[in-house]
Amino acid sequence: MQKFEKIGAFGLTEPEVGSGAAGGLTVTCKKTEEGWILNGQKKWIGNATFADLVIIWARDLDSGEVKGFIVEKDNPGYSVEKIKGKMALRIVQNGLITLKDCLVAEENRLQNANSFKDTGKVLRMTRAGVAWMATGCARGAYESALAYTRTREQFGKPIASFQMIQGHLVEMLSNLTAMQTMVFRLSEMQDEGILKDEHASLAKVFCTLRTRDIVSRAREVMGGNGILLEYDVARFVADAEAIYSYEGTKEINSLIVGRSITGFSAFI
Ligand SMILES: Cc1cc2nc3c(=O)[nH]c(=O)nc-3n(C[C@H](O)[C@H](O)[C@H](O)COP(=O)(O)OP(=O)(O)OC[C@H]3O[C@@H](n4cnc5c(N)ncnc54)[C@H](O)[C@@H]3O)c2cc1C
Repeated sequence: MQKFEKIGAFGLTEPEVGSGAAGGLTVTCKKTEEGWILNGQKKWIGNATFADLVIIWARDLDSGEVKGFIVEKDNPGYSVEKIKGKMALRIVQNGLITLKDCLVAEENRLQNANSFKDTGKVLRMTRAGVAWMATGCARGAYESALAYTRTREQFGKPIASFQMIQGHLVEMLSNLTAMQTMVFRLSEMQDEGILKDEHASLAKVFCTLRTRDIVSRAREVMGGNGILLEYDVARFVADAEAIYSYEGTKEINSLIVGRSITGFSAFI
């Protein structure tokens, strides 16, 4: 996978279990003499339609703990359906995976993943990545909007020369600068090996919230053209919605940060 010779996917979310994955996974695994039997469904899994392998997170029927499995695409009992009708991140294919008495060998079980805490280690890294993704989306929207306002004329002048348009641009740049600074520090902490769950969650919440605000202002200063795909900003507006909700919603990541700063878990 590191060499891009194989494409992988991460299968945690289920049709009925999203935010509550920590305690609520319904996909099961059961140890038998031949290996592990997996049953259930996973929803929203990015790349799943063409991935060579998918990491499936399942609850052990015997111990109750969450375990991870490498499931290969031609594994009997494994099938994927493409999720249609997405209005955001259309470049990414998301799949609905069905596991029906899917037999997986013991050597395909992730040997160091023995509870949801180990799944959480992956989420810490991917949430940091999503904070960066939001920053890129916001920057794209800001740059497109700035370029547009400098050339678009109304009342005989570039709209960038109007005070209220400049107000929007400055708000966008302020938030963007804060986001860039935050994700840069996040990566430094990753390199130093001191990144914790709450740091990644804080950045994910902040950057995706600010991105929503930035793309909305970018769309606004472009008037009607802001909703046309040819100007890019409309695509950023749509993508910001998906980025805002995946890898843990604002609420779930806020609860992670809230638990860390107060010492009280408000998860129910
Ligand atoms: C484009 C896209 C790509 C994705 N890719 C993947 C992937 O590759 N692999 C994967 O495993 N998953 C993937 N997901 C799933 C994603 O992680 C979930 O959508 C996300 O965790 C939210 O779960 P949900 O959609 O079931 O919403 P729900 O959990 O049903 O939440 C609905 C609303 O209720 C709120 N809520 C839930 N619980 C609480 C609470 N305790 N307190 C307050 N509010 C609460 C949520 O914040 C949200 O606003 C993807 C999703 C999308 C949209």
